[in-house]
Amino acid sequence: MKDFSDYKNIWVFAEQRQGKLVNVALELIGEGKKLAAEISDETRICAVLIGNGVDPLVEELYEYGADTVYVLQDPLLEQYTTDAYAKVMTDAINRYKPEIVLYGATHIGRDLAPRVAARLNTGLTADCTRLDINTANYMDYLEEKTTASLAGLDRNDPSKGLKQTRPAFGGNLMATIITPNTRPQMATVRPGVMDKREREEGARGERIDVNVEISKEDIHVEVLEVVKAAKEMVSLTDASIICSGGRGLGDASGFDLIRAFADKVGGVVGASRAAVDAGWIEQSHQVGQTGTTVKPHIYFACGISGAIQHLAGMQTSDIIVAINKDPECPMMQLADYAIEGDLKKVIPEIMELWDVE
Ligand code: FAD
Repeated sequence: MKDFSDYKNIWVFAEQRQGKLVNVALELIGEGKKLAAEISDETRICAVLIGNGVDPLVEELYEYGADTVYVLQDPLLEQYTTDAYAKVMTDAINRYKPEIVLYGATHIGRDLAPRVAARLNTGLTADCTRLDINTANYMDYLEEKTTASLAGLDRNDPSKGLKQTRPAFGGNLMATIITPNTRPQMATVRPGVMDKREREEGARGERIDVNVEISKEDIHVEVLEVVKAAKEMVSLTDASIICSGGRGLGDASGFDLIRAFADKVGGVVGASRAAVDAGWIEQSHQVGQTGTTVKPHIYFACGISGAIQHLAGMQTSDIIVAINKDPECPMMQLADYAIEGDLKKVIPEIMELWDVE
C-alpha cells in the first residue's frame, strides 16, 4: 500500500498578470477552503504566488481566505514562461508535498499544470466544473459505480481523495475522476464556476518565502515585450452584466445593436458559437463549453436558443434574461425573465427603459 501520509494541505496556483491576481485564483481559494474543512481541521489552504515584486498581493490572498502564502520570487519569474514556472512549481511541490494542487483553467494554468504533472509523474484532471472530497473509501465508491476491473488499485487506500467532475463527450455527460494511486492530486478548474469568499479586510496568515533555484539556462524562451490587445478587451469572466448575441441576430451587423446594448447597461459582449462560427464576432467573446464559462449578475441571451453547450457556460448566472421569438426554446424555458419577440424591437425598448427609475 502506498503511504501518502507526508502529503498535506491544498495548494492553489495564485496566478497573477502584471501584478494583478486573476479572479479564478481567488475562486479556487474559496473552494479550497470548503474542501480543506472536509478533509480535516488541520488541512490548510495555501496560495502559491510566483513572480517578481509580488509582495503587495500577499495580503489580498490572506483576505480572500489563504491560510498560508508560499512566495516564489526572482527576476527571471517576472514574466510567465513555461520552463521557469514549471521548474519552480515542481521543486516547491517536491519539497512541501501538498495533497491537492489546483490551477485555474486559463491559458497559463492549462499550459503549466500538465508540465508540472508530467514532471511529478502524477495525474491531472483538466477543465473541472466541480470538486468534492470523497468521504467514503475509494474502492467502495468504485465498486458501486463501475463494472470495470479494479485490479491494480489499492483496496485499502483510506485517504479522503478528490472527486473531480468535468464535462465529457461534448458536454453530454459529466465524468467523475479520481486519482487513488498518486499524489498530489491535481486539477485545472474553469473560471467562473466556483464562488469567491467575501473579502475579509485585515485577515492575515502565514508567509513562507521559498528559496528559488532558477537560472537562464533553465529557460528556453525569452519574453521580449508584452503587448496589450489593441482591440476591445474582453473580460467575460469578470463581467457583472453580459449581453450575448446568437444566430438570431441575423448577420454581423446585429452585433452593432448588441454593442450599443452592452454600452448602455455597462455590460460586456458575449456570443454563441453559431455567431462566432458565422464570422460575426471574434472567438474570445464565445460563451459555453468550448468558450468561456461566465457567472455574471445579469446574462442577456439575445437570439440564442440555449443549446446544452451554451448553457454549460452560463447557466449559473444570477439572473438570466432571454429575448427570443420562440417561447419554447430551452433558453426561454431556463430564463428568469423570458421576453418573447423580435430582438431588434425588444433590445431598443430595454435600452430606453434602462435609465427610467
Ligand atoms: P440557434 O440554435 O440557431 O438559435 C437561434 C435562436 O435565435 C433561435 O432560438 C431563434 O428562435 C432565435 N431568433 C431568430 N431570430 C430572432 C429574432 N429576430 N429575435 C429574437 N430571436 C430570434 N455553442 C455555444 O454557444 N458555445 C459553445 O461553447 C459551444 N460549444 C460546442 C461544443 C461542441 C462539441 C458542439 C458539438 C457544439 C457546441 N456549440 C456551442 C454549438 C451549440 O450546439 C449550438 O449550435 C449553438 O449554441 C447555437 O447557437 P445559437 O443559439 O446562436 O443558434
